[in-house]
Amino acid sequence: MAEYIQIAVNVPRVQGVFDYHLPPELEGRLRPGHLVLAPFGPRLVQGVVLGTVAQPQVPETKAIDMLLDEQPVLTAQQLDLARHLSESCLAPLAACVSLMLPSGIGKLADVEYALTEEGEAFAGELSAGQARLHALLKERGALRGGQINRALPRKNWRSSGAALVNKGLAKTTALPPMPSARAKTVRTVEFVAAPADEKMLSKQATPRARRAKILEVLQREPGPMDADWLYAESQGSLADLHVLEELGFVRLSARESVRDPLAELAYDPSLPPHLTADQARVWDEVHKALANAQLNEVPKPILLHGVTGSGKTEIYLQAVAKALTQGKQAIVLVPEIALTPQTVRRILSRFPDQVGLLHSELSPGERYDTWRRARAGQISVVVGPRSALFAPLDRLGLIVVDEEHDDSYYEGEQMPHYHAREAAVAYARLAGAVCLLGSATPDVGSYSRTQRGGWQLLELPARILAHRDTARAHRERLGQAARYQAANEDAQALELPPVNIVDMRRELKAGNRSIFSRELQAALTETLEHRQQAILFLNRRGTATYVFCRDCGFVLRCPNCDNPLTQHLDSRSDKLLCHHCGYTRQTPKRCPNCDSVQIRHYRSGTVSVEAEVQRLFPKTRTLRWERSSTRTKGAHERILRDFGQHEADVLIGTQMLAKGLDLPLVTMVGVVLADVGLNMPDYRASERVFQVLTQVAGRAGRSPLGGRVVLQTFQPDHFAIQAAAKHDYAAFFTQESQDRRQLRYPPFAQLVRLEYRDANERKAEREARAVGERLAAMLRGRQATEMTGPVPAFFSRLRREYRWQIVLRGQQPAELIRELKLPNWRVEVDPPSLL
Ligand code: ADP
Ligand code: ZN
Ligand code: ZN
Repeated sequence: MAEYIQIAVNVPRVQGVFDYHLPPELEGRLRPGHLVLAPFGPRLVQGVVLGTVAQPQVPETKAIDMLLDEQPVLTAQQLDLARHLSESCLAPLAACVSLMLPSGIGKLADVEYALTEEGEAFAGELSAGQARLHALLKERGALRGGQINRALPRKNWRSSGAALVNKGLAKTTALPPMPSARAKTVRTVEFVAAPADEKMLSKQATPRARRAKILEVLQREPGPMDADWLYAESQGSLADLHVLEELGFVRLSARESVRDPLAELAYDPSLPPHLTADQARVWDEVHKALANAQLNEVPKPILLHGVTGSGKTEIYLQAVAKALTQGKQAIVLVPEIALTPQTVRRILSRFPDQVGLLHSELSPGERYDTWRRARAGQISVVVGPRSALFAPLDRLGLIVVDEEHDDSYYEGEQMPHYHAREAAVAYARLAGAVCLLGSATPDVGSYSRTQRGGWQLLELPARILAHRDTARAHRERLGQAARYQAANEDAQALELPPVNIVDMRRELKAGNRSIFSRELQAALTETLEHRQQAILFLNRRGTATYVFCRDCGFVLRCPNCDNPLTQHLDSRSDKLLCHHCGYTRQTPKRCPNCDSVQIRHYRSGTVSVEAEVQRLFPKTRTLRWERSSTRTKGAHERILRDFGQHEADVLIGTQMLAKGLDLPLVTMVGVVLADVGLNMPDYRASERVFQVLTQVAGRAGRSPLGGRVVLQTFQPDHFAIQAAAKHDYAAFFTQESQDRRQLRYPPFAQLVRLEYRDANERKAEREARAVGERLAAMLRGRQATEMTGPVPAFFSRLRREYRWQIVLRGQQPAELIRELKLPNWRVEVDPPSLL
């Protein structure tokens, strides 16, 4: 029976799954995951083999043109994962397959042809076309398709190429299109023999001396030497090397240079410490899961809930080590490499030479090299942000998701819109690997799955006392006892820093118009006097968008759905809008609650906070850390290093401060306004505020010097603020999950967000309303699914486009719209934000 091959194509203008038949020379040679070239209309496109089908979708299939790379570009498990993502994210399979290819490959790649050993030696009969190509490759070595095109103009050499490959005389390798992404080679030179007489090297004295020097240098080298080094040491040139090679005194060859992004990151190898009692208890369970996975038992995902500094990272490291001794490989996902240099460095130093690092600052070439090394099995541990999940590893034993609550794990911009945490859990299940997720502030959905979703919960309740030396040295330098000293330095655990909630309504009443309360000013004074460091945190998300009363804290809400009203950013008029039901009203002149005129938008940025620090403490050295000031490569690292080396006293920053920093000299954290973000019209607003406050508070007091947190707010009674101040995750979770259950939000319901963007405001609205009517008609009579919108999105204009959205909420709204064709709409299932 004839077999048809199904391939996924994802190149500009062609996306989909298509069926082909096999030409005779490829029969029996194709496997799932192979990269092939296939005709599509008038051109050839690249596709990934998904498998075979008995019945093609079209009556007349075309033949696959050629196999581009003998080694599959995707593992079987990666294909499974792509299928899973396509199903669960309502995204085309071809787009999901493309996620797993390095940029370049799979787009408009080129192919390199080279003779095999057999081909080099071959002297038999060939057709004219084959003989021409054979001769060309023999003369010039490996060539790309484009180069062959130029050498053999107007010849249809591709079929000759396929025939040579089929005869085993030539082989092909797929190459990404950009020259920058080609494997880089370095010329090397090796000593073969010394001349009987130096005169043999040249008749003239100068070149003779140069070449003799080359041989002298080479003779001291045990093996091949990089030509660049040789030039530097001998003053010789490539021409000299060619002469020497001709004479048989040296051998020239090439070595593949691997572009190693880690080469510039300095680190020292480190040894694992003895685990604390808490860690040992957790490790027992993780170890058991890894051992059971080895016995083919499908492991449960493990959620490791531990306060900042409780030793989670150490558990990850031990788990990776265990996976490696099992002969397996591991993926460690971190939110953003640039923001988590300390974690990354710890992984590198524990597993020297075994780690592949993927991150956004890599060049396509570096990325391609890491991908290739991973595919060749030369990397045991892959570390990186969400895309690192897609590195081609075929012995996967462990996936770690550090800071699993972090929103950067979600791909909100491009199709497919996936959450790397959810993808990691699914991938681990498909691969029979252990998935270890950790956080000090677990995602509400994750935590609820430890209660009723088959996940295992492990906890590290106490901080580990680290940095004793730093603290001691600091005190000795100052010749004084630290103020906030932990009671017993030899104790294993360290208290979490006390949090002081400051009610900002009282500050205004007391006549303090500064953005810093009296408490915060006092705490800053004290910290600076002790020459310790302070962090001032400002929540950027949502500043200047909601309206509240400075006197009583009153926030304007929608009369229909109780959501906070926010300023509609585009309208020049002073309108407030509800992003759920579309209700609008004028911004009031007086507070409806207390009649105060102090009702207005909140505006503050790191610049004004810095100015205030300078005004109050003129001699203080400040550093600002936010995304806009750190566009250049390495800027994050530099800021963190400078601050870490105490070259500044106060670090002023935004959300980035919440990510895993370990700064021992920081003894005070001030939250300039805790409630920013609380009044965002989003179902996860409270969760996000709780997370960021808890994480930021966790930056204080990571050494025996102790620490404290001052948290300023206009809503001191809000449960998320209260819970964050007490470091009480359980209290937060209980209240939050109760609210979500009542309001039917994830994890108690599914959300589907449909979003339409258009540069034309009217067109965006028209399209949104039209689709809204279609959906409303579809949903009539289905009480289980609720629709909100169409309304302008909270961020109603992004990159010059107007955004409108429709949100479906219910048991399985994704199923309802699976077959719905909505070209140009963005469809997201359970997006972590509806803003
Ligand atoms: P987390 O990942 O939960 O924030 P870490 O693993 O970074 O916690 O641990 C916090 C600090 O304690 C780090 O400085 C780390 O080096 C140190 N540490 C962790 N485990 C141990 C241990 N068993 N013995 C000594 N120090 C440890
Ligand atoms: Zn008021
Ligand atoms: Zn409303």
